[in-house]
Amino acid sequence: MDRLRIVVVGVGHLGKHHARLLAAMPEVELVAVVDTNPDRASEIAAQYGTVALTETSTLLGSVDAAIVATPTTTHVEVALPLIDAGAAVLVEKPLAASVAEADRLVEAAVARGTLLATGHTERFNPAVTAALPLVSHPRFIEIHRLGTFPDRSLDIDVIFDLMIHDLDVLLSVVGPDVASVEVVGVNVLTPRIDIANARLRFASGCIANVTASRISRDQVRKARFFQRDSYVSIDYAAQEVEAYQLVPEPGARPAIRGGRIETVRDEPLRLELADFVDAVRAGRQPAVTGRDGRAALALATHVSDLISKDAA
Ligand code: NAD
Repeated sequence: MDRLRIVVVGVGHLGKHHARLLAAMPEVELVAVVDTNPDRASEIAAQYGTVALTETSTLLGSVDAAIVATPTTTHVEVALPLIDAGAAVLVEKPLAASVAEADRLVEAAVARGTLLATGHTERFNPAVTAALPLVSHPRFIEIHRLGTFPDRSLDIDVIFDLMIHDLDVLLSVVGPDVASVEVVGVNVLTPRIDIANARLRFASGCIANVTASRISRDQVRKARFFQRDSYVSIDYAAQEVEAYQLVPEPGARPAIRGGRIETVRDEPLRLELADFVDAVRAGRQPAVTGRDGRAALALATHVSDLISKDAA
């Protein structure tokens, strides 16, 4: 098969890395980078040996696939013409600015019969892919995603910037049936929610306690899964996994055995793009679909709405 012709739209903080990683893939031709800021488009195009454009219209119909890494409020207006032109599209997370907009993207992809992926990068973290096969019937899950104050994404609640990563992981592990949600959220340094906690009860009885913050002193990105006879912990940042198992000891308390699980360190974004490229070439679904992105956004929106209701 010929090289996959891909364009990256929006080459800011994250899109630049999409361009860097795609330019290094032998099975890909990075046809162009597009950014409404012409200087930025030229800078990144020069760096990765491709063409700089400020809009996608001239490319429609001539690219196989596109990455949309523009601000979330523009995802629909940027992605829809690409989908309608038949391109496979990977849209950065959150999939869209609202569930209604996410539905438009999912429906357009179904109508056009094209592939839609969502950039929930954490699902490709080698620690997550090593740990999740060990998690089958979690009873209790504790997740912390705490960061220091950023200079970006302050126009959205921390739920849509950070917590949504963990909501997506939870939905992929425990399933879609969330029975109830309790929340607390506080704005500290911005008018938006800077720290939030959600306690989710799934239909299976599993409880997940998820905390996301952008006003912490230290960076912590950890998930712990407690099961009846085992415990699995993930350090997303260090890409480390530990797993412990209860081992019956005749006539005594069970022993706890386990330790560090081997992971192969890699860039989650590179793995996400490799999956997307392979899915397009193989005509299969990507590991994180548009529907998955829609589900994570719907749950994040529910958490956010409950916090707003509490504050009112
Ligand atoms: P950014 O502001 O740094 O970059 C966005 C770029 O898009 C800018 O260069 C801007 O000029 C350009 N742009 C704006 N409107 C455009 C349009 N209509 N057409 C073409 N270019 C346009 O933002 P960012 O931090 O890179 O975030 C981009 C997206 O990626 C957001 O949806 C964000 O939530 C997501 N993101 C995901 C992760 C992750 O872990 N997967 C991490 C960071 C950001």
